[in-house]
Amino acid sequence: MARWAYVNGRYLPHAQATVHVEDRGFQFADGVYEVVTILDGHFADLNGHMERLGRSLAELRMDWPAAPRVVERILRELARRNGLVNGSIYLQITRGVAPRDFKFPANTKPTLVMTAKRVAAFAKPEQLEQGVAVVTVPDIRWGRRDIKTVGLLAPVLAKQQAAESGAYEAWLVDTDGTVTEGSSSNAWIVTRGGVLVTRPPSHTILNGITRLSLLRLATERGIPVEERPFTVEEALSAGEAFVSSAGTFALPVTRIDGRPVGDGKPGAVTMALRQAYLVYAKGSTAG
Ligand code: PLP
Repeated sequence: MARWAYVNGRYLPHAQATVHVEDRGFQFADGVYEVVTILDGHFADLNGHMERLGRSLAELRMDWPAAPRVVERILRELARRNGLVNGSIYLQITRGVAPRDFKFPANTKPTLVMTAKRVAAFAKPEQLEQGVAVVTVPDIRWGRRDIKTVGLLAPVLAKQQAAESGAYEAWLVDTDGTVTEGSSSNAWIVTRGGVLVTRPPSHTILNGITRLSLLRLATERGIPVEERPFTVEEALSAGEAFVSSAGTFALPVTRIDGRPVGDGKPGAVTMALRQAYLVYAKGSTAG
């Protein structure tokens, strides 16, 4: 099936979907984005992603390109045109096209772009059976990580370092030695006492939509939860570790900087939460 994208009011073949050279997303990373997963035809946590998009736009004093319900309709239509059953929609809004000048341009229309991607499997069987490895790197990002901007150079460098070390993800470590989050995921541990620990929302992390749903699912299941920072050392002595994001749900982490977490195998709490999320996401929003 042909691959379709959306650019400013038009559905276009993917290869022909382009934006202007003076788009502020291109020149200043002056834009925000969301990634929405479609799981067996269901839009996982779509409301949460739309809400966070509105928050990101408001934080940057950027306008919606169209009413939120219209943007949502376009997203659903793009998924339909691409025949997406399992995959994702990438949605980006920038402050628009204007002669290059740092200050906000006057009367510029925001750019709205969406692309669609099919996903054969959200996790490889060996990632679920053995878990994935992470490496730790200094968190060199800016001070407003709570805004989902397209300024992703630090995560690009971190992910590249992880890949070159044979790891799946990089865990970003603040100057105080605590793990903020992954380069494109939230970071979690389960203590040997069975307490689920993840960093509380603040300007230091992106408050993941998957993170919020996992916290609720954990609480509903009576799993004790502590929202607090943890160090790399604490993660290494924990019973379990995992990452969460729209595309990974909850994915077990079994090695940090080459050292095993817990017994070196995916943990029971992690896998139960992953399963709970999949069930919830498939029931949450009809396709
Ligand atoms: N943290 C960062 C830095 C991310 O880039 C992402 C997702 O891309 C997440 C956390 C997870 O957020 P979500 O669960 O909304 O995908």
